[in-house]
Amino acid sequence: MAMQRTDVVVLGAGIVGVSAALHLQAKGRAVTLVDRAGAAATETSLGNAGIVQSEAIFPYTFPRAPGEIAAAALGLDPRVHIRYAALPWIAPWIWRYFLASSPAKRLATAMAMRGLVERCVSEHRALAEPAAVGALLREGGWIKTWRTAHGEDLAMSDVEEEKPFALPTVKLSREEVLVLEPHLGEVVRGGVHYPDPLSTSDPQALTQTYAKLFVARGGRFVVGDALSLAQSGDGWALTTAEGPLQASAAVAALGPWTSDLAKGFGYRFPLAAKRGYHMHYGAKDGASLNRPVLDLERGYLLTPMTRGLRLTTGVEFARRDDPPSSAHLDRLEPFGRELMPQLGARLDPAAWLGRRPCLPDMKPVIGPAPRHKGLWFDFGHQHLGLTLGPVSGRLLAEMMTGETPFVDPKPFRADRF
Ligand SMILES: Cc1cc2nc3c(=O)[nH]c(=O)nc-3n(C[C@H](O)[C@H](O)[C@H](O)COP(=O)(O)OP(=O)(O)OC[C@H]3O[C@@H](n4cnc5c(N)ncnc54)[C@H](O)[C@@H]3O)c2cc1C
Repeated sequence: MAMQRTDVVVLGAGIVGVSAALHLQAKGRAVTLVDRAGAAATETSLGNAGIVQSEAIFPYTFPRAPGEIAAAALGLDPRVHIRYAALPWIAPWIWRYFLASSPAKRLATAMAMRGLVERCVSEHRALAEPAAVGALLREGGWIKTWRTAHGEDLAMSDVEEEKPFALPTVKLSREEVLVLEPHLGEVVRGGVHYPDPLSTSDPQALTQTYAKLFVARGGRFVVGDALSLAQSGDGWALTTAEGPLQASAAVAALGPWTSDLAKGFGYRFPLAAKRGYHMHYGAKDGASLNRPVLDLERGYLLTPMTRGLRLTTGVEFARRDDPPSSAHLDRLEPFGRELMPQLGARLDPAAWLGRRPCLPDMKPVIGPAPRHKGLWFDFGHQHLGLTLGPVSGRLLAEMMTGETPFVDPKPFRADRF
């Protein structure tokens, strides 16, 4: 097969890689998108909760209160699930995560992330319109509900913390929650409505629609193994199903697998997978939801999706490649039936497992590889990859084409590790 040439090869066709490919293409670069799967969004970007979280300026920090840590460690907190056998491997990472979660560092991270998060909705719209995603993207925000006065305190302390950022929030009584979501159950005592975020009824279809736009604009999508990437002369070479590929620059956007590629070039990123599951459910008596709803004190979301009501779990601490377990989902499902009494039967044969690609300081890596000319990174988007994929693609493309980036890229540098 003849050697193919391209300006940039983007490795990984999740929301992050697809978005980077579109932005580089818009800057006039010939781009080839490579994934080991024959389609975009077959991994983490397939199964998330579908929220474009324009309110998520503060990161998902590790708890600091001793009681909360003890409850999580002892398996008493349904928001987290720990695979104890994995602890010898993952404890050092959790320790780094804990250290980065101090109040001062939490605020510093929020300040660094703000410039990205604030543009997430407009950057999605900029892709959604030409891609004609239609009903795949939904207005109406999402609701954080509470069951007790303690839950209300937690939610309102978040609102208080967010005040300097002028995020639109509406505190709702139980009755007001029911006006927006009439099918929620007795356990809901009130909530906070974040009206500005978007949500999608199918994260996989959304990313695939963006990928179609990339191809319609002349981009190539090719099956290949990113781990075959090698330096070649001044550029990069890769083996693909369509033959050898030569590129001037390469972007590693492999989500939780980026560390496998980086290791081969001598970069040891502390990338861990905060795992999470989903299951779809039917609904009895025509019940439905209009937007994603969080059960704050139990730590899962219910999102209306094309396939049904999707319950997404909080975090499972395990090694990335540990086998899946239905334990966390099984524990949360009864809470889901309290939150929405008309939640119907399971629709999937097994829970889907996803791996949030997480660095301990809760920021992605977006920028050049420190020791390899023409190699770039765009990964580690943790709980917010759907939110931040498009805006990260813009930042990366501006850096790669020598433009002044719209936001200070320093906090996202690869050499901070
Ligand atoms: C339960 C759950 C709920 C979530 N909810 C939300 C939410 O509501 N909002 C939000 O913003 N984010 C959410 N997230 C996070 C979000 O889904 C991720 O941050 C995002 O999908 C990461 O995208 P990515 O493109 O970096 O990785 P991925 O989507 O995993 O893409 C990586 C790609 O690399 C490819 N690949 C891997 N290895 C190779 C190789 N060797 N060769 C070629 N290709 C390879 C894979 O096939 C894959 O296509 C959630 C995550 C989970 C698990």
